Amino acid sequence: MINDTIPACDLLVVSPHPDDAEIGVGGTLAALCAQGRRVWALELTRGELGTNADPQERWEEAVAAADVLGLAGRVQLQLPDGFIDANDQGQAAAVVAVIRRLRPAWLVTAPEPLRHPDHQATPGLAARAAFLARLATWQPALPPLRLHGAPALPDPVDRWETATIAHVTPEDGRPSLLFDISAHWDRKLQALACYRSQLNRDDGRRATVINDPAFLQRIEDRARRWGRQAGTAYAEALTTLQVPVVDDLPQEPWR
Ligand SMILES: [Zn+2]
Repeated sequence: MINDTIPACDLLVVSPHPDDAEIGVGGTLAALCAQGRRVWALELTRGELGTNADPQERWEEAVAAADVLGLAGRVQLQLPDGFIDANDQGQAAAVVAVIRRLRPAWLVTAPEPLRHPDHQATPGLAARAAFLARLATWQPALPPLRLHGAPALPDPVDRWETATIAHVTPEDGRPSLLFDISAHWDRKLQALACYRSQLNRDDGRRATVINDPAFLQRIEDRARRWGRQAGTAYAEALTTLQVPVVDDLPQEPWR
């Protein structure tokens, strides 16, 4: 029997669309993977409403980015793009089934909960699923999914309690922690470059907010801004309602 107290992954990043994880916390994911942490990405949708590219092309880009970052694995569900709903039982069931198999210690949602309705709804859906995953009285089946990095997901536990839940800090929000990604900034850019169909306006792609060169500049500006606060070149920021429990003074600097 699988021990339902031992995480199968250190961090699970939950995003509505392929590319959100890299845009929001690509540097943090790269930093953790470089230290041997088991990091998984979960996309809720195939991104089928995207202005450019079909789901297959987007999946191939996401797989390439996963390999650049060194992710342990990537899961893609088939929830409806454009209609992520924190109150939808079927959507919560799909996320619960994945959480019970990956058993994350940390769950982070990306990108920041702004603009796109799926981005607004994802933190709520993930938080609901993380709570419901603790209740052994509800055992939803694993929904259809695509998987990269492992031949299959681990067997599920009856219940799983995720220790820490956080989301990407909005531009005007207050970080709970700043992650120094200076040594991993280039890796984040390499991962983003995998998403040619989304972030590159060449090849006759339709113009969007995120394939405007100003968008990449905004990502860099923000990483530099959090970096200034952190006292490093680049940083990414996470916000959580939780607080750490300590029994000694933390060694990390406070800014
Ligand atoms: Zn998105």
